[in-house]
Amino acid sequence: MVQTKEQASPMAQEKFDTDIVVIGGGPGGYVCAIRAAQLGAKVTVVEKEYLGGTCLNWGCIPSKALIASADAYQSVLHSNAMGVKIDGKVSFDFDTITSRKDKIVTTLRGGVGILFKKNGVTHVEGTAKFVDKNTIEVEKDGKKQKISARNFIVATGSTIIVPKIPGLEGGQKDGIWTSDDAVMAPFVPKKLVIVGGGVIGVEFAYVFNALGSDVTVVEMMPKIIPMMDEDCSTELGKLLTRQGVKIMTGSAVEKLTKNKKAWKVAVKSGTKEESLDADVVLVAVGRRAFTDNLNLEKIGVKTSRTGIDVGEDMRTNVDNIFAIGDVNGIIQLAHVASYQGTVAAENAVRGGSRKADHKAIPNCIYTVPEVASVGLTEGQAKEQGYDVTVGKFMFRPLGKAMASGHQDGFVKIVAEKKYGEVLGVHMVGHGVTDMIHQAVVAIKLEATVEVMVDTIHAHPTMSEAVLEAYEDTHGMAIHKA
Ligand code: FAD
Repeated sequence: MVQTKEQASPMAQEKFDTDIVVIGGGPGGYVCAIRAAQLGAKVTVVEKEYLGGTCLNWGCIPSKALIASADAYQSVLHSNAMGVKIDGKVSFDFDTITSRKDKIVTTLRGGVGILFKKNGVTHVEGTAKFVDKNTIEVEKDGKKQKISARNFIVATGSTIIVPKIPGLEGGQKDGIWTSDDAVMAPFVPKKLVIVGGGVIGVEFAYVFNALGSDVTVVEMMPKIIPMMDEDCSTELGKLLTRQGVKIMTGSAVEKLTKNKKAWKVAVKSGTKEESLDADVVLVAVGRRAFTDNLNLEKIGVKTSRTGIDVGEDMRTNVDNIFAIGDVNGIIQLAHVASYQGTVAAENAVRGGSRKADHKAIPNCIYTVPEVASVGLTEGQAKEQGYDVTVGKFMFRPLGKAMASGHQDGFVKIVAEKKYGEVLGVHMVGHGVTDMIHQAVVAIKLEATVEVMVDTIHAHPTMSEAVLEAYEDTHGMAIHKA
């Protein structure tokens, strides 16, 4: 059960400097700190770079600001179809795009600082490492201080993986970008090769293609966004290809060689080999839990290949130390980090054992159009032995989709046949990252298709496709031709 402020009691002040130290001020750490303070604890957050972490400074927010500008540019370019005439040349100013993005980031970062002040959370700048299970040392510009606490929450996030491919070791100046460089892009590359067709790869593919780059995505797996339902991967691949992105699946980058100023990227697809030209190569193959130099071994905290091992209550094997967010490797999403932060905060303040429920996690991709998913894919449901029924409804025939000019994509429902429990909901289309939440609630509450088709959806909305897709699981969608 979630605890209210009234139910919580402040922690007993022991011999420590503070009740709780949170290491890392990303969406896991800062949310955890505020919740622990709301529950009455004395809290310190140690952050080595910027409040807001990867999400706010190099991830979710700057990438979405770039996507919004790219989308605005494309909307103006294609406004004729909506009867809006633009006389004269349509262009964009990349400096304005990036300064707008930077302003959003600094505003939100300042907002976290304000929330800390409001909640009485202490912010200490510096890099933390454990001295013992109740003490850390924080270093900043050569100065060191020790802080002791009853509980520690490790929220140190993740860092970029750069695979060992010859040529990739060069940095940003050489035209080898990571996602950190891409959100800070100083220019729009002419020819961009993206290594990796996961979430981050396809989002940048959308942005730079929309701004005029010649983009090729190289993905090892048979489909882009391989963790999503197969129909979503196919649909997004089709739509990005239509926009002009070249997608090479089942293909691996073997090596890079520099030819004058351009890169030659050697790609192998089965037995076929080809060479792609690029002025920039963007590496987007994933991230690993960041535990470097924390001294976890010294204090006996167990880690595995994916990150710090935790139980459902977010505790590590050392009972006063918790680990939340990307660093525990459960799933690398900002909202999951924040959710786990609230669970850890309650358990740390109250000594409780609230369990994190990871069943209904929305997973969103902010390309245009967007992709959103919750629960089991059709493949996963079948693998888990469910007798599955599927319903699907395309946005194309909907009044709202036609009126707004957003007809691409669909909603797909995966349900269990006998009792009709909703197992998974998958969407591609305009605004689906907001629409997914009705499905998140359905899965969280173990709703059945029967209940969902008895739920009135407003007209005209894109969400009518969700109702139709539920009805389609029984072959009863009204507007399916
Ligand atoms: P982080 O946000 O990584 O924060 C960890 C913090 O700990 C950092 O600020 C770091 O400086 C600090 N730190 C590390 N070690 C120490 C130390 N020893 N001492 C002090 N401080 C330390 N997720 C989504 O949900 N939606 C999206 O749209 C999305 N888009 C993304 C786009 C990109 C390009 C990238 C790279 C990621 C994206 N993510 C997205 C993932 C999201 O950013 C992460 O899941 C999220 O930031 C994890 O939060 P966290 O608090 O666990 O870690």
